Amino acid sequence: MTSFKAILVSKDDKGYQARMTSLSPEQLPKEPIEVAVEYSTLNYKDALAITGESPIVRHFPLVPGIDLAGLVTRSEDPKFKVGDAVMLNGWGVGESKWGGMSQRAAVRGEWLLPLPEPFSTKDAMAIGTAGYTAALCVLALQQHNIMPADGDVLVTGASGGVGSIAVNLLSNLGYRVVASTGKSSEVDWLKRQGAADVIDRTELSSSSRSLTAERWSGVVDTVGSHTLASACASTQYGGVVTACGLAQGMDFPATVAPFILRGITLVGIDSVYCSTERRFQAWDLLAKYLERTALQKMITTVGLDEVSERAPDMLAGRLKGRMVVDVNV
Ligand code: NDP
Repeated sequence: MTSFKAILVSKDDKGYQARMTSLSPEQLPKEPIEVAVEYSTLNYKDALAITGESPIVRHFPLVPGIDLAGLVTRSEDPKFKVGDAVMLNGWGVGESKWGGMSQRAAVRGEWLLPLPEPFSTKDAMAIGTAGYTAALCVLALQQHNIMPADGDVLVTGASGGVGSIAVNLLSNLGYRVVASTGKSSEVDWLKRQGAADVIDRTELSSSSRSLTAERWSGVVDTVGSHTLASACASTQYGGVVTACGLAQGMDFPATVAPFILRGITLVGIDSVYCSTERRFQAWDLLAKYLERTALQKMITTVGLDEVSERAPDMLAGRLKGRMVVDVNV
């Protein structure tokens, strides 16, 4: 086996850096399965890991990339055989274990899912953790009995990866989706993804009263902070807010009023250590309800060598849709 390309994050006397490098097969971690990676993606967490803006990387040096899809090239696990198309989302990969921004990866069988039909490895990474998290939010709304007839569903950070896939999924499931965005230039794009209405994110992003007019039956919040507090304050009686992100901030400056006076439910969403059973449900929902032509229009494809320059743009909220990383260009 010859050397291969990867991004390597290191922290030493030269400081924190993420650079393209060539690795030899012996440098891969000792794990029972090896995958020839075809695609990875740039998620918000990957952007944090690459820039060092947040302590995402737990061990150095480390290959970032919380997602990967490719073909099995070696397996000591009876559940997978050479040639199987597989994908991986989370499980601490790209944080404490070597991840997907590499032409080769060494992983455990329990972290892998067979590539779900009808997706290609590129589709799976166009969706990635962002899209699968959007699906977990939608599943949570459904399981709390929020139905299309109950009223509008708000999606915040709507032009981002999680947000844009949530908009499309919800709209294809028959919900009337209101997209909140900071990008006035993307109103038409969001409407093409399925938003019935688009609001400016400043309506939600500054401090709000404890309770405001009841506007949403459900919420997919990717932003946190004042936006999450405002979303809770404006959710209708018995409504459900799913919280998965922190693009505005980690804080939650809210009161208990929406919970004790309107009986709203706040559901936390974690994609990293979510059960395999739940992952299958989420990918099944994506397979049935995510429009693949819309997905193609959400993606920008970059090579490994472009990832470092795109990461700061992602953290600044300047990107839209999903960033797919073709590790072999
Ligand atoms: P993106 O960067 O693709 O999208 C984030 C979006 O949030 C931006 O496009 C922008 O959308 C909005 N935004 C950015 N900065 C601000 C700000 N200061 N105030 C308000 N809105 C802002 O990221 P992802 O969609 O991939 O991820 C979104 C969030 O979800 C991240 O915090 C990420 O860490 C989290 N996440 C959590 C997961 C989990 O398991 N819980 C899994 C995956 C992601 P717009 O311009 O349209 O407003």
